[in-house]
Amino acid sequence: MTVSAQAATGSKAEITVDYQGQSKTAQLTVKSSLEETIALVNNIPTVTNPADLAVVVNKQRSLPADYVPAGLVEPNVPFPFAGKAEKKLLREPAARALESLFAAAQKDGIQLYGVSGYRSYRTQKALFEGYVKTQGAEHASRYSANPGKSEHQTGLAMDVSGADSRTRLEEPFADTPEGKWLAAHCAEHGFIIRYPKGKEEITGYAYEPWHLRYVGQSMAKEIMEKGISLEEYFQDAVAVQSKP
Ligand SMILES: [Zn+2]
Repeated sequence: MTVSAQAATGSKAEITVDYQGQSKTAQLTVKSSLEETIALVNNIPTVTNPADLAVVVNKQRSLPADYVPAGLVEPNVPFPFAGKAEKKLLREPAARALESLFAAAQKDGIQLYGVSGYRSYRTQKALFEGYVKTQGAEHASRYSANPGKSEHQTGLAMDVSGADSRTRLEEPFADTPEGKWLAAHCAEHGFIIRYPKGKEEITGYAYEPWHLRYVGQSMAKEIMEKGISLEEYFQDAVAVQSKP
């Protein structure tokens, strides 16, 4: 069987074997192992698939410093601040999915706000250096990502809040009606809670019930149903061998 080279990460292929009146179907998920999507660039382990909707960026996997996602747009959702801003932007598929997520929330009486989406390498660098200056290097690396290591640079992540600013980007957001609704419904629109509770050792980040990451519906549903992190989703991926 051949899977198209254009097949999206997370898409499924079914293999059915019919033999002497018996039939057996096995499902195969298209995914590359994480080792296949990393290379050293200036001695920094850097992802080779920055534009993949399934890209895994974390403290061990940087984006290229010059990576700027194509097709950044402003989703038509409310933000708690006015005016044009880089952090309102998302890549097109993530922006459209965010609009459908927010519309579904509103139908259930839940009012959501976008807080922070795309962040360029340059912005992250300034932010991180600011933290180092005011709080010290140790604090900075615990609470902020080094430039290139923030998932916000992918244009696929959005921090979300409810109307109450006291729980904005704070862990108690998880227990608010908005936080509970998000955890229950984000996958239906292709989003995951990227930094789940109890997965700090794997993701490198404390629980962030407000940080949504777009990966597409089928992957999102599998990840949220299993209660795993994005890193764990790729753990059973089999490295593909090149044909001789
Ligand atoms: Zn975030």
